[in-house]
Amino acid sequence: MSHSIAVVGTGYVGLTTGACFSSLGHRVTCVDIDVAKVISLLEGQIPIYEDGLADLVRDGLASGQLHFTTDLVEACAEAEFIFLCLPTPAGADGMADLSAIHEVVLQLQGRVRAGSVIVNKSTVPVNSARMVAELVNDSSVSVVSNPEFLREGSAVRDFLNPDRIVVGSDDPVAGERVASLYLGTRSPIVVTDPVSAESIKYFANAFLATKISFVNEAARFCDAAGANVLEVMRGLSFDPRIGGPFLNPGPGWGGSCFPKDTQALLTLADRIESPLPIVEQAVSSNNQQIERLVRLIADTTLEVGARKLCVLGLTFKAGTDDVRDSPAMQIIKKLEGAAPELACYDPLARTDMPTYAKRVDSMNEALDGADVVAILTEWPEFAAIQPDLLAELMRGRVVIDGRYLLDPARFIPYGIKVRSIGRPIPY
Ligand code: NAD
Repeated sequence: MSHSIAVVGTGYVGLTTGACFSSLGHRVTCVDIDVAKVISLLEGQIPIYEDGLADLVRDGLASGQLHFTTDLVEACAEAEFIFLCLPTPAGADGMADLSAIHEVVLQLQGRVRAGSVIVNKSTVPVNSARMVAELVNDSSVSVVSNPEFLREGSAVRDFLNPDRIVVGSDDPVAGERVASLYLGTRSPIVVTDPVSAESIKYFANAFLATKISFVNEAARFCDAAGANVLEVMRGLSFDPRIGGPFLNPGPGWGGSCFPKDTQALLTLADRIESPLPIVEQAVSSNNQQIERLVRLIADTTLEVGARKLCVLGLTFKAGTDDVRDSPAMQIIKKLEGAAPELACYDPLARTDMPTYAKRVDSMNEALDGADVVAILTEWPEFAAIQPDLLAELMRGRVVIDGRYLLDPARFIPYGIKVRSIGRPIPY
């Protein structure tokens, strides 16, 4: 059955939500405060990179199922469901800043249709659904928490084939109505109360961040002990209680969610006097990983007297153009002065660079004449780098592989040393 849906906020989550719901047959109007963004969306141009999203947006526009506007009230007035996909960045006090949600809900007060459901898809602290219900102040309108678990880089796939849908509501009928929107995705649906739904999202992210911190700690241990972290993780991966995915060591976690969400959870835990020491340590351990990689790169450039350092990868992961809280960008900020020339390449990142770092247009240009190369994002083109290309283009012979993409043994015949934390060099 087709429903009318308004989506407020057309960022990574909102645009994906709107485009995917329209592809499931619903009539969707997406609204954003950013006029330029809405104009380009109306022309079928999408302002972010997300695999498959541009096609869905163009299909939705062509079929008339998907609309874009800057007029919040018009978009929401007749909608049966209003999805809030608004930013909730870290506030000055560490809590999630809910001002965009406040602002929008206040504008909607008295202007939504009776019986409509406001759905909170943004990541928000516990009791936010109840706070929104108080702001709306209309007993005919329900507020449901429906946190989003999509991953940038596979957002469309994740939205249409989610591991689970979480619906938190004090009103079972409203909860059922929201759950029914996802029937086409055939995924398990967890129906619960709003506070539990809001907590699920924070603890999911805290768990994943902790898992990566744990793997990176193992990498640092392996470095000292002479073990190979990739072998250790492979050995762990077959245990279903541990789980194979997300056991990859790397430069540390980042992105638009884990840092701000762990911070918001810790601040909230502090306020309700229920400390989360494991999550606290996961954050501190992550900072240590970033520092460790900075040190490895800086020590190596010093050791070889590097004139040119090449950094490959700026985004926090492959498949996205997002650099929000990217470990690569944090590492680059700490590498000022590590070499007279710092050349960076990323196929998609949307970012300005610090003055001492130069962004170049191709991988080969970045590699050309480099004494040391540091790989910080797992883009497939970096995994496909061949030893003869490096031997031809580089002046030096050291690669710091922060993503464990290259097999060091293949590079030995070319005199190239591929170093990673916790992976012994086979020479
Ligand atoms: P984003 O910054 O990419 O997009 C937010 C959009 O909201 C922007 O287009 C902005 O212009 C718009 N906006 C801001 N204020 C507005 C207003 N008053 N009215 C209308 N539009 C307004 O954010 P995002 O990454 O899509 O994240 C949105 C929420 O979803 C956050 O709470 C985030 O934590 C959560 N989330 C994000 C992801 C992710 O991978 N990005 C995954 C799951 C959950």
